Amino acid sequence: MRAWQRAVFAFWCGYCGARLPKGSPKFTVSLPLVTHDRVRCASCAYEPVPAMLPVGFPVPMAATYVDEDGLERPRSVVPASVVTLSDWKSKASGQ
Ligand SMILES: [Zn+2]
Repeated sequence: MRAWQRAVFAFWCGYCGARLPKGSPKFTVSLPLVTHDRVRCASCAYEPVPAMLPVGFPVPMAATYVDEDGLERPRSVVPASVVTLSDWKSKASGQ
């Protein structure tokens, strides 16, 4: 599969070795049964950069929960008392 996208992180071109900053156009070639994608910069890619390549990239939405006070809070600050170690172990084991 060949795809153009904006780089989420800075990357090195796999052909010329240039280091390109976050947000640069990045051409990725994925091949079946090959674990590493081939990454190319705009000047080394096999095809021109599409004119409609999005400027930004999607920001993942934070998972939230509603606490006992009715306030919506991000999932990353769930107090340790809500999820105990035994809960985690039972969920991991499928019980
Ligand atoms: Zn390059």
